[in-house]
Amino acid sequence: MLPFEHLYSTLPEPLWVATQATPVASPALIAFNAPLAHELGAQEIPDPATLAEWFSGNQPMPDAKPGALGYAGHQFGNFVPQLGDGRALLLGEVIDQNGVRRDVQLKGSGRTPFSRGGDGRSPLGPVLREYLVSEFMAAMGIPTTRALAAVTSGERVVRQMAEPGAVFTRVASSHIRVGTFQFAAAKRDEALLKALADHVIERHYPEAANAEDPYLALLESVVARQAVLIARWMSIGFIHGVMNTDNCSIAGETIDYGPCAFMEQFDPQKVFSSIDQGRRYAFANQPAIAQWNLARFAETLLPLMREEGDALVEQATEIIRRFNPLFDAEQRRLHADKLGLPPESDQAALLMEGLESQMHQGRMDMTATFDALTQYAASMSDEHREGLLALTTQPNELTAWLGTWQAAQVANQDNQRFAAMRSANPVIIPRNHRVQEVIDAAYDGDFAPFHMLLAVVTQPFDDSVEARRLAAPATDSEQVLRTFCGT
Ligand code: AMP
Ligand code: MG
Repeated sequence: MLPFEHLYSTLPEPLWVATQATPVASPALIAFNAPLAHELGAQEIPDPATLAEWFSGNQPMPDAKPGALGYAGHQFGNFVPQLGDGRALLLGEVIDQNGVRRDVQLKGSGRTPFSRGGDGRSPLGPVLREYLVSEFMAAMGIPTTRALAAVTSGERVVRQMAEPGAVFTRVASSHIRVGTFQFAAAKRDEALLKALADHVIERHYPEAANAEDPYLALLESVVARQAVLIARWMSIGFIHGVMNTDNCSIAGETIDYGPCAFMEQFDPQKVFSSIDQGRRYAFANQPAIAQWNLARFAETLLPLMREEGDALVEQATEIIRRFNPLFDAEQRRLHADKLGLPPESDQAALLMEGLESQMHQGRMDMTATFDALTQYAASMSDEHREGLLALTTQPNELTAWLGTWQAAQVANQDNQRFAAMRSANPVIIPRNHRVQEVIDAAYDGDFAPFHMLLAVVTQPFDDSVEARRLAAPATDSEQVLRTFCGT
């Protein structure tokens, strides 16, 4: 069905290791992303039973050549020289309709040479969570891996308790991570490292090949994409939860949705992940952590770069520092959009600081606040003003802020600015309690809530009755305070 190619498998052994999927008991298709399949070059989509066989790994897909990828990584700051795909298999790459090479990978398809103590499987919950959140991110225009298929395995996997198993099919620009470079660098095999770097330049950053120092140019491009990515995450309250270097994509996509979650009541120090005890990956730490990860990437590239000694380190450090202005510029642009200000406005930073403080002090839900502000900008009606003020515990303070905002915003007179404001402020995000509700229903065999939530979060600007119902913030009893990797 998919016209596979196998470029990554031509890289030397520890980077790609031939591995077969382990069949599951009785695969059944939960979801298949037909529009994405067409984008990837699929002509005809077979029946669900065949899809279930293929996307569980039970039957080899025509032309697939499954392999597990080696990578290393800093996990919560500690270097682990060998991680790798412990429960994932790269089936191959396809050239999509835009001429872009993209990976297709099974996740939860059984043990691999990199599995260590793990069972190579995925529980159903994290599969559904990744499907929903990654497709929402794509609908928001945020660079991300995509969901192609989800299949239940008919087997139980044991975590804290026995849970239904599932296999997820992920599509990525590539699965090359900062940790992949760390893996090659740790082997102290410069030829291996160079082969990887040249592959990445050819595949993701072809313009770097013509630079005076292609590897320095590669670093510069990766820094720029990460800076934009993290600014976009933060503009909608996304908290990745496990920004280890092995979860940091060289192509600049959001990858490895584990305990990720969206901010509800605004708090810059917010952490959801149960394993993030030190709050290393708190919301507001994300830019600094991305920069730290990029410094680890830079270290791996030093042996390939032209300069030597102190001059080399200085040059690389200077590029890592550029993360900050690039991040700031993207954030300024996004903040102007979110507030309905002209793009060149110099008030965005101050107004956003003011509103963030209102949201924090007034215990306001981040998504609901920006949605209400967008509705108010459209109508300037008392009703929408009241709707916004109802979100805070400090309406007098917010009223004062609104006065300053009103004088600066142009969204209610400028259609283009309003469109930008709307597209920066979704009506709905996949809220933690809704995702949990959907998982609970699926564990009882009912996938209808999953399909409903998926339909709504992939049209995040639609103002339907169903969207409004599923968009509502959690009540106190519905709140999900902790999220789990679920691996
Ligand atoms: P993650 O938490 O998904 O980023 O994974 C971190 C590392 O643990 C990667 O090397 C994974 O392949 C590995 N891993 C996670 N879950 C499993 C599992 N069930 N079986 C084998 N390896 C796993
Ligand atoms: Mg990972």
